[in-house]
Amino acid sequence: MGKGFFEVPVAINEPVKSYAPGSPERAEVLETYKKMYQNTVAVPLYIDGKDIVTNETATMSPPHNHQHILGTYCKASKSHVEMAIATALEARKNWAATPWEQRAAIFLRAAELIAGPYRAKINAATMLAQSKTVHQAEIDSACELIDFLRFNVQFMTEIYAEQPESTSTAWNRLEYRPLEGFIYAITPFNFTAIAGNLPSSAALMGNVVIWKPSDSQVYSAKVILDVFKEAGVPPGVINMVMGDPVMITDTLLASPDFSGLHFTGSTHVFKDLWKKIGMNIDQYKTYPRIVGETGGKDFIVAHKTAHPKQVATAIVRGAFEFQGQKCSAASRCYISKSIWGEVEQYLKVDLASIKMGSPEDMSNFVTAVIHEGSFNKLAGYIDQAKKDPAAEIIAGGNYDKSKGYFVEPTVIKTSDPKYTTMCTELFGPVVTIYVFEDDAWEETLHLVDETSEYALTGAVFSEDRYALEMGVRILENAAGNFYINDKPTGAVVGQQPFGGARASGTNDKAGSKLNLYRWVSPRMVKETFVSPTDYRYPFLG
Ligand code: NAD
Repeated sequence: MGKGFFEVPVAINEPVKSYAPGSPERAEVLETYKKMYQNTVAVPLYIDGKDIVTNETATMSPPHNHQHILGTYCKASKSHVEMAIATALEARKNWAATPWEQRAAIFLRAAELIAGPYRAKINAATMLAQSKTVHQAEIDSACELIDFLRFNVQFMTEIYAEQPESTSTAWNRLEYRPLEGFIYAITPFNFTAIAGNLPSSAALMGNVVIWKPSDSQVYSAKVILDVFKEAGVPPGVINMVMGDPVMITDTLLASPDFSGLHFTGSTHVFKDLWKKIGMNIDQYKTYPRIVGETGGKDFIVAHKTAHPKQVATAIVRGAFEFQGQKCSAASRCYISKSIWGEVEQYLKVDLASIKMGSPEDMSNFVTAVIHEGSFNKLAGYIDQAKKDPAAEIIAGGNYDKSKGYFVEPTVIKTSDPKYTTMCTELFGPVVTIYVFEDDAWEETLHLVDETSEYALTGAVFSEDRYALEMGVRILENAAGNFYINDKPTGAVVGQQPFGGARASGTNDKAGSKLNLYRWVSPRMVKETFVSPTDYRYPFLG
C-alpha cells in the first residue's frame, strides 16, 4: 500500500432472503436447481489457473436421489499434487508482494458476485450436493460465505493497523508477512461457506493455497472456484485438487515448503494429520501453523425453570436442521424432570408435523443425510438403541435408502447419562435425552462437562439467574460457543466467532481476527533515525 491509508467498506452481515412462496428468489433458485439437475458437469482439477482433466474420475449424485448423476470430478495423481506445490510457490512471488488493497478488492468482489449473480447457483448447487433445504443453503453458501469474505477483509485492515509505539528517535513498524511456503486447506462436506473460507482467508493474508474439498462437496466447490476466478484471484494462488485424501496429504505434508494446515472436519482425521506433521517436523523450513476445527457432541441443558416450549423448539431446530449434520448440532439433552412431560409433548407434536424429502419441495424441513456410509452408521445406532434396555426411541427411528439416504428425525430417551449416543458424535438427525432430578442441577452440570471429549457448542435454558450463572461457571470449558436460552447452532460471522477446544479443535475462531493472525508471521522493523557512534554509556564515566 503506497499512496493512501485506504478504508474498506464497513462489513455488514448479508441479509437472509426468505424464499417465501411467490418471492422472486424462490422462483429463481428453483429454476436454477432444475436446470442444474438436468445437466451434468465435469469438474477438473484447478492448478496454476488452468483446468486439468485427468483419466481417473468419480461421479457426483444428490444424497436425496443417489441414482441420479450430477456429473463427474477428476482425481489427482501424485504428479498433479507436486505440480500444485510448484505452481503455488511460483505464484507466491507476486502474490505475497501484492498490495493489500488489491487482495481486498478481489475478495470483496467475490462477496458481491455471490450476493448477486451467483447467489441462485451457489444455493442450488448446495441443495443438490449436500441436500440442504433452501433456507439452510441460503444461510450457508450465500450469507455466511459473503460474511466471511467481507468481515475478513475488514479484520485484515484492523490487524494491519495494530502497530507498536514509536519514539522520535526510532520508528517501529510491524509487517504482517504471509507465511513462507504454502498453506494446505482441507474442507468438510457440510458447509459450502467453510469450503470457501478456509482457502480464501489464508489467501487474503497473502498466502498461496492448495485446497482439497470433500468428495461430497466438489459439486458446490466448483461454483466457489468459478467465483474466485471471476473475482480475479490470480493463477496459482488458490489451487484445487481432488482425489485420494491420504495420497494428497502425504505428498503435501512431505514438502519442506508446507507452512500451514487449515482444516475443518472430524477429530480423528485432524489428529492423524497432526501426527504426520510431527513426524515430518525436521524437514520443514518453518514451523507449520496447525489450525483445525473438528467434531462436537453439543448439549442442551434445561433447568426446571425453563420454558418447555422454548426448550422443545431449540431441540427441534438445534438437532434436526440440516439433518443434524452441523458440527454445532444439539445431540445430547439434559432435561429437568418436572418440565420433561411438557417438553416431550411439544417435541412429538413438532416432529409429527415435519416433512422429509427432496429440498426441491420447499415444504420439507428435513432432507437426506450426506452418503451411504453416514446412513449405515446412523441406522446401526438406531437399531442398537431399539435393543438396548437403557434406551427407548420416543420419536422417529425409521430410515430408508431406496431413493435417497433418508433417516427420520429420531429422539432416543436414555436412563444412562453415559449411554453411547450421549457421548459419541453421530453427525445425523438423532438426539438423545436424559431426564434428571429437579434438585440435581449442579451435579448434572458436572455430568455435562465430563461426559464428552468435545467442547464445541452448548446451551443452557433457565429463568433462574443463579442457575444460569452456575451453568456459565461449571461449563466454562465445555463449549467454545456457549448459548443462554438459545439453540446451540447458527453462529453468525462478526457476531459469534466460532470454534471449540478440547477434542473440538484449536479454537482459532473462524470468521474472526484470531483466525487471520494464524496466517501471518509478523516482522518487526525498527528504524533508528540517527544511529549512535560511540559504544560508551554515560555510567562508564
Ligand atoms: P471428514 O473428517 O470425513 O472429512 C473432512 C475432510 O478431510 C475432507 O476433505 C476429507 O476428504 C478429508 N479427509 C478424510 N480423511 C482424510 C485423511 N486420512 N487424510 C487427509 N484428509 C482426509 O469430515 P466430514 O464428514 O466432511 O465433516 C464432518 C466433520 O467435520 C464432523 O466431525 C464435524 O463435527 C466436523 N466439522 C467441524 C466444524 C467446526 O467448526 N468445528 C465445522 C464443520 C464440520
